[in-house]
Amino acid sequence: MRSQPHLLAALLVLTGCPTEPAEPEAEPPTAADPPVLYVVSMMHAEESVQHHENENIYRSFADGLEAQRALFSDHGARIDFGPDWTFIEGVKRWDDQQLIEHVASGHGLHTHAHETIWDLASVNARLADAGVLGNPIANGGFLESGPGGTNWIGYVDAFDAPNGDPMFSTVIGYKNPQTQLPDSSGTCFRPSATGDWTVHDPDGPLLYLGSSSPAEQGAGALDFATFRDWLDSRLDSLDPDAMNTAYWHDSLHNYAQPQAAADRRAQWEVEFEEYLDPLVEAGRIEWATFEEMTAICLAQE
Ligand SMILES: [Zn+2]
Repeated sequence: MRSQPHLLAALLVLTGCPTEPAEPEAEPPTAADPPVLYVVSMMHAEESVQHHENENIYRSFADGLEAQRALFSDHGARIDFGPDWTFIEGVKRWDDQQLIEHVASGHGLHTHAHETIWDLASVNARLADAGVLGNPIANGGFLESGPGGTNWIGYVDAFDAPNGDPMFSTVIGYKNPQTQLPDSSGTCFRPSATGDWTVHDPDGPLLYLGSSSPAEQGAGALDFATFRDWLDSRLDSLDPDAMNTAYWHDSLHNYAQPQAAADRRAQWEVEFEEYLDPLVEAGRIEWATFEEMTAICLAQE
């Protein structure tokens, strides 16, 4: 909690109390406060599951999503969900309010495309068909090259929305596209579209939000055994000159079987109560969707 010496002095004057001798001017509060770490729980529904061909399969995954959303909402936390095209087709077929409700309840969505059949633009258009128009967050195309010799940043930037504007403002990853290891950056920056994408270029066309998941974990998958140590280490090494971001992959397939899902939600309750909620109360972490992180990063540029 920041002290309010000037307000206190003014109150003392107004109420007629003698004022203390003038205190030395307080440090600007931001100089002493550690930077906040913006976090979100990234969740994917993969195209390898036939959500769109079997309503029971779709429903088991959607039930898991809804329960996870309720749990996170109870703690003021955020999920950012990236359904690949099969899940979105299931939504359109059987559950047309699902993604609308997801966004309306404060959680995020991103355009997640493995591109074995359909590319980012196709998945983005399917999100629009499912009621979520103009999603600006891209996750996919990692191994593609863009026009004019650009890298995957240039590839993603080349997609245009129906109105002719760039389709995406921001790319996310949780693993390095070249190495498939969790990417080590933990900040928001503008990747180079022409050289090494991990290098900041003030003229870069897109923002990147870094995950910095532990390298020993497969593809940034959430591991409760190391979760706190990892986040603690992030909090101990924040960059004071950047917007610090972190996320992990808590795939929806962890929640498709009722008992396994219930066990995992119970573990989440422990993490919230013992660890995450106190960090929020202390001002060390703040939940934000990828779109919210994008707005904060743009404002800080
Ligand atoms: Zn995926």
